[in-house]
Amino acid sequence: MSTTATTETLAKARIAVLGYGSQGRAHALNLKDSGLDVVVGLRPNGPTWHKAVADGFHVVEPAEAVRDADLVAVLTPDMVQPALYQQSIEPNIKPGAALLFAHGLNVHFKMIEPRTDIDVVLVAPKGPGALVRTEYERGRGVPCIYAVHQDVSGHAEEKATAYAAGLGGARAMLIKTDFKEETETDLFGEQAVLCGGASELVMKGFETLVEAGYQPEIAYYEVLHELKLIVDLFYEGGITKMLEFVSETAQYGDYVSGPRVIDAGTKERMKAVLKDIQDGTFTRNWVAEYQAGLPNYKKFKQADLEHPIEQVGAKLRARMAWLQSGAKSGQPALKKVG
Ligand code: NAD
Ligand code: MG
Repeated sequence: MSTTATTETLAKARIAVLGYGSQGRAHALNLKDSGLDVVVGLRPNGPTWHKAVADGFHVVEPAEAVRDADLVAVLTPDMVQPALYQQSIEPNIKPGAALLFAHGLNVHFKMIEPRTDIDVVLVAPKGPGALVRTEYERGRGVPCIYAVHQDVSGHAEEKATAYAAGLGGARAMLIKTDFKEETETDLFGEQAVLCGGASELVMKGFETLVEAGYQPEIAYYEVLHELKLIVDLFYEGGITKMLEFVSETAQYGDYVSGPRVIDAGTKERMKAVLKDIQDGTFTRNWVAEYQAGLPNYKKFKQADLEHPIEQVGAKLRARMAWLQSGAKSGQPALKKVG
């Protein structure tokens, strides 16, 4: 854990940020405002090219950005990174330069095998890009985790912590990890608890109430809408704060019924999900699915979008004015979990 890192090591470095989406934009702006030299690398006339230009960046094609860079941050979607590496990075990156990722997937599962004459590091802020930016603007920062995969210069760790400092992360906290831990825990969290676990829990709860004859509108409020109140309490003060703010009846129901729904069998299945992540089964399947043009992904997504909770939800959300004003300002509370 460190809070003393500075941008010193990168003071004279040229940083190429490839990708200008959720993370890319926040990284590029924060690094620039920290006084570092940033160039943005994008496909000509790609969807975010004009945005990066409008934000005042020098924007060039990825290969050109890489050629002059001392540090290359790869912030495109994970599935396009192997081709980007082969085509634009590997032939152009300077010996001794650093290659930086915000997620360890491609390196850990060897879909990218970086040249042996460069440093390879990871810096991942523990928050979506929009928060990384707004916290920086408030003079604060989002904690970052960092890791070193390959240290050729003898300064790889300093480069990673300097980059994290440039993001504002050192104002909060830096935690050292490794590519394996970051990759496997990130995949497990989003599959078992955050995206997969939470959405299935909500949909099964909704189905249970509706099949028992209760109104879908009432079921929606009880199992989806109110989840935000509970998650906000978790976020602010853990399980302790949640227990403090719900009624005694809700607490008693939590203690006796929670473990009936999420039980030892659920934990065994979580372990099976983790094993598939660790031994590469999940990633192998995901790459094959991506390369096949996402046939199952599209089918699963369509089924989620057509679930009855989505029909009733759209109708109810349209009548909650505070949600509408958020949507109109184009500022979703959170954008994307990495
Ligand atoms: P994103 O989808 O928001 O943005 C991707 C950017 O890459 C866009 O600017 C897009 O135009 C550009 N791009 C796409 N294909 C390209 C190509 N072939 N060449 C050059 N540019 C291309 O992505 P994101 O969510 O910011 O994710 C970037 C990385 O950060 C990923 O490794 C992800 O795992 C990681 N990450 C994301 C989050 C998050 O909250 N979103 C959090 C931590 C880590
Ligand atoms: Mg789901």
